[in-house]
Amino acid sequence: MITLALSKGRIFDDTLPLLRAAGIEVLDDPEKSRKLILDTNQPGVRVLIVRASDVPTYVENGGADLGITGKDTLIEHGGQGLYQPLDLQIAKCRISVAVRNDFDYERAVKQGSRLRVATKYVAIAREFFAAKGVHVDLIKLYGSMELAPLTGLADAIVDLVSTGNTLRANHLVEVERIMDISSRLVVNQAALKLKQAPIRAMIDAFAAAVAAQAKA
Ligand code: AMP
Repeated sequence: MITLALSKGRIFDDTLPLLRAAGIEVLDDPEKSRKLILDTNQPGVRVLIVRASDVPTYVENGGADLGITGKDTLIEHGGQGLYQPLDLQIAKCRISVAVRNDFDYERAVKQGSRLRVATKYVAIAREFFAAKGVHVDLIKLYGSMELAPLTGLADAIVDLVSTGNTLRANHLVEVERIMDISSRLVVNQAALKLKQAPIRAMIDAFAAAVAAQAKA
């Protein structure tokens, strides 16, 4: 049995065409079903629905053989012990610094003020501001980061940005782009040895599908 860990939403939706290209059809829709283990048209392949931030943990500990997760999650989690053979070029976005429209970020940075930064991505934010020599107080949040500058909880946020619509709707502006993000295939190292042929076949099929999508 090959077990693939996925999270609901963008990553699941963007992974379906890649699975299809590998000849795998998922038989349930996680948005409609309450099942957390989804069967596929292949009796030897199943899909686990887990929280995005839990995908590396499942794969690292062998709860799943493979997983698909954002580079953001992998950096925050550490991703040690995971084989990362492929950038799938899906769920693309960027991780950026954003502030309120009326906040003078340049000036705050130039003056060496201590910035209060709210984020789910504490490790990425810490490293980014340390490299710039900007002192920050990091405030860990788990969601709705956009609220932090609006309520006075923080001066800035570090969050994922795709179209920028969420920032605009909340009167925030992107002031720095930290890095581009896309989703990666991650593989449990022991599983790769024990189930080499089917896992290799899946990696190769994904690689071919990614290459074909890039050409399209
Ligand atoms: P947007 O309004 O298109 O810029 O999207 C921003 C919102 O969607 C933020 O709340 C982000 O946390 C979330 N988001 C954007 N891209 C992704 C992604 N690839 N994976 C997960 N969440 C995302």
